[in-house]
Amino acid sequence: QSIEPVDLVSIVQKESEIVEQEYNCRISVLSPKKVFYPIEIKDFRLVIHNLLDNAAKYSQMEGQVIVKLQKDHKYLTLLVKDYGIGIKKENYEKIFDRFYREDQAHSSKIKGTGIGLAIVKEIIEKYHGKIRVIPNMTKETIFEVRLPL
Ligand code: ATP
Ligand code: MG
Repeated sequence: QSIEPVDLVSIVQKESEIVEQEYNCRISVLSPKKVFYPIEIKDFRLVIHNLLDNAAKYSQMEGQVIVKLQKDHKYLTLLVKDYGIGIKKENYEKIFDRFYREDQAHSSKIKGTGIGLAIVKEIIEKYHGKIRVIPNMTKETIFEVRLPL
């Protein structure tokens, strides 16, 4: 059976408000007014919630989180960017493993169980999409999700 297209922008906005209140941070959403994609609402909500939760949690006082949602002729692309503690290049893949958390030193101060990204990856792959960290030399972190159109 086919899945109904839903407006992802309204889901992103709702989850942004939840995470902004929880972490007292500022999340900017850059997107067209509406972006429709056929995905179960609960699946997309888990994806965006986990990415925003991480962005806010691992940037603490650094403030600003930016979300971009765009469609081109081939893909729907979701970008979540923060200016927090960053991720070491050698761990770009490992962070998607169940229960993996980077560096016990910082992880012991910032709480988590290490399953958020494993769940996100599982959902994205169920829709034949891809997720990765965009390689970057500074402390900013950008997660990129691409879903086929
Ligand atoms: P939870 O299961 O509560 O989400 P978690 O946040 O530790 O726990 P994941 O969301 O799976 O687990 O993330 C795995 C690890 O990847 C984190 O422990 C952290 O080390 C690293 N990480 C994820 N997102 C970011 C980010 N935006 N900035 C820096 N490190 C990150
Ligand atoms: Mg997490």
